[in-house]
Amino acid sequence: MSTPRIAVVTGGMGGLGTAICRALAHDGRKVVAVDLPTAAERTQAWLDSMQGLDVSVESADVSDFDSCQSLVAKIVQTHGALDILVNNAGITRDSTLRKMELAQWQALLDVNLSSAFHLCRHAIDGMLERGFGRIVNISSVSGQTGNFGQTNYAAAKAGLHGFSMSLARETAGKGVTVNSVSPGYIETPMTRAMPEAARERTRAMIPAGRLGQPEDIARTVAFLSADAADYITGANLPVNGGLFMSF
Ligand code: NAP
Repeated sequence: MSTPRIAVVTGGMGGLGTAICRALAHDGRKVVAVDLPTAAERTQAWLDSMQGLDVSVESADVSDFDSCQSLVAKIVQTHGALDILVNNAGITRDSTLRKMELAQWQALLDVNLSSAFHLCRHAIDGMLERGFGRIVNISSVSGQTGNFGQTNYAAAKAGLHGFSMSLARETAGKGVTVNSVSPGYIETPMTRAMPEAARERTRAMIPAGRLGQPEDIARTVAFLSADAADYITGANLPVNGGLFMSF
C-alpha cells in the first residue's frame, strides 16, 4: 500500500474546514487541521466528531509568518512531507469603506491573503523537491463580483486568484498544481450570522434555489487535490449554485 498523502487544512475546525478535512480523510489522506490555539475540550470534541478518520490538530496563527514556518517544519518532521495544502482559514471584518478602520483592513488582509503567502512560502520547496504538491486556496464569489461592505474581503479573495495563477506558472511541470475555489453562499456559522431577511434575499438570487452545503466545497477540494488532477492548474472553480456565471 502506498504512503498516504499528508494534507494540511487551515481553519480546519471551522464550517467548511471540517467538511474538507472529512472528505480528504475519506480519500485516504492523513489530515492535519490547523487552527488558532483553542480550548482542549473543543479540539477533543472535534476529533471525536471525526469518528476514527486519520486526522490530527495543530495550532498556528496563519497571519503570522514565523508561526507558519514552525508549523510547516513540525508537520514535515512529524509526517515526512506536506503534500496537500488547503488555505481555507478566513475571517470577515465587514464595513463600508467610509467607516472602515485600518485595523479592519489589515487584519483581514493578514488572515485571508498574506496567510497563503506565509504557508506556501514555507511549503513550496519541499513540494518541488518531492515533485508533488496540491495547493487549493479558498476564495469567494465576493472576490469575483465585489460585495457591499466588503472592500477588504473582496480585495483579499480576488488577490488569492492572482496569487494562485502566478504560483501555478512557477510550479507547473514540477508536479505541483495551484488552484482556487470560489464558494458562493454556504451554510456555515459565517452565513448563519447573516440576518434572516438577508439570507432569504440571497437564496432568492441563487438559480439552484438553495444555499450550498460545506460538502459541496469539500468535494471540489478533494477533486483538485487528487493525484489524477495533475493537469488542472491556475484554475478557479466557482461553486455557487449558479449565483455568478462567467467563462
Ligand atoms: P468559519 O466557520 O468561521 O471558519 C474559519 C476558520 O478559520 C475557523 O476555524 C477559524 O478559527 C480559523 N481562523 C481564523 N483566523 C485564523 C488564524 N489567524 N489562524 C488560523 N486559523 C484561523 O468560516 P467558513 O465559513 O468555514 O469559511 C472558510 C473559508 O471559506 C474562509 O476563507 C471564507 O472566507 C471562505 N468562504 C466561506 C463562504 C461561506 O458561505 N461560508 C463563502 C465563500 C468563501 P477560530 O474558530 O478559532 O476563529
